[in-house]
Amino acid sequence: MKSPLQKPAAQAGGGTGEVDLYEVRRKIYPRAVTGLFAGWRWTMVWVTQLVFYGLPWLTWNDRPAVLLDLVQRRFYIFGIVLYPQDFIYLTGLLVISARSLFLFTAVAGRLWCGYACPQTVYTEIFMWIERRIEGDRPARIRLDREDMSARKFALKAAKHGAWLAVALWTGITFVGYFSSIRGVLGSLASFGLGPWETFWVVFYGFATYGNAGFMREQVCKYMCPYARFQSAMFDRDTMIITYDGDRGEPRGARSKKADPKALGLGDCVNCGLCVEVCPTGIDIRKGLQYECIGCAACVDACDKVMDRVGYPRGLIRYDTENGLANRWSREQLFRRVFRPRVLVYGGILIAVTIALFAHLVLRTPLRVDVIRDRGTLGREVENGEIENVYRLQLINSAETARSYRITVSGIDTVRIATEPEVQVERAGTRMVPVRVRIDAGKGQPGTNKLEFRVEAVDDPSVAVREASTFFVPR
Ligand code: SF4
Ligand code: SF4
Repeated sequence: MKSPLQKPAAQAGGGTGEVDLYEVRRKIYPRAVTGLFAGWRWTMVWVTQLVFYGLPWLTWNDRPAVLLDLVQRRFYIFGIVLYPQDFIYLTGLLVISARSLFLFTAVAGRLWCGYACPQTVYTEIFMWIERRIEGDRPARIRLDREDMSARKFALKAAKHGAWLAVALWTGITFVGYFSSIRGVLGSLASFGLGPWETFWVVFYGFATYGNAGFMREQVCKYMCPYARFQSAMFDRDTMIITYDGDRGEPRGARSKKADPKALGLGDCVNCGLCVEVCPTGIDIRKGLQYECIGCAACVDACDKVMDRVGYPRGLIRYDTENGLANRWSREQLFRRVFRPRVLVYGGILIAVTIALFAHLVLRTPLRVDVIRDRGTLGREVENGEIENVYRLQLINSAETARSYRITVSGIDTVRIATEPEVQVERAGTRMVPVRVRIDAGKGQPGTNKLEFRVEAVDDPSVAVREASTFFVPR
């Protein structure tokens, strides 16, 4: 594709040698499309949006089932309570997401972009609203060319009103993941929404409105980094949307009854529908382009044309470079899915996923951090006993309040001199000052190793050991 940077200097900047750095946007009016892949995309729209809009409304143990409580620094995901110290799970989740993306891209190209990316999903919803109000592609083109009139104003106002309503609800739902959505709606109704919540409702809503209503394909073309580095994950056996040039060319219009071979034509009737349905406005017949998000709208459109003219489907189809060059059958294509790169990506993904979930399921719902009191290293108290002071931070990840027993070991006669049992509220943290003593003459002068054990009174299997040190003055 010709880049605007390649524009001859004489054509640009009035002969001053200045060149345009950015291509002027050509507004795209995608035509509505139905078919197998459009059906899959709408299925994904429903699934992802039911999850996104629905999750904040679910409750679990009298609280939102999914709540990322940044103020309290607790993250609730159904029965699991996580703390900032559990950052490892977020890291694991990001590794799984990245690995999944690598795997799916190596197998089937931009599957994520075409079916599940929020930009695709919201653009699909916004385009559906646009079509319901302004009509399909020809009607929208006509409307945009018309001078402003009461009808045009009403249609545009209705469209933007509907877009804003969806965007606002999306912003409210987003905030509902960080603060109870029922509380957010109650605050909204009484004009008592806090400044941060207001900011994020407006910001997220505005981003949705702008990205899905106006920016659309430009987000994919210019802003998304994935479009740029995806080619590193492609090989000649990656499924991509391809136009079968050998079969389609030379393209050209013909009557339905005409024999294309007699006319010296291929199967492409040059109807242009594959371009008209493309949300990024490209012509797939020019070959794979980075703008192609793999939505397969052109496949659905072309299959319908092929049905109408009585040719076999699949002039535009999912295929691989090798498959196209060697005219491979579906079975041959399928066999190439299990190639070394895919097996390595898949193996790593399975291993990381199992490790993460096993760790999550088997983790102890108690975390203990021992902090030595630096102010008093070690001091002599009554009867020549030596005392060290600690602070134990107990984090109870269970959804019930729990009593814990603190014991200590590692030095002869070492014991807890404060109350050994403490209670921590459900999903709560508590800082407990603990004094530890040994008898006179025990322990080595200097630093001695020490171990705390904290166990739940009602369930000794919930126990954590934490190493520390005990200082004996010389
Ligand atoms: S939709 Fe199919 S037949 Fe029509 S122009 Fe595109 S490739 Fe050719
Ligand atoms: S070329 Fe086809 S698959 Fe690619 S973005 Fe356009 S319509 Fe979607």
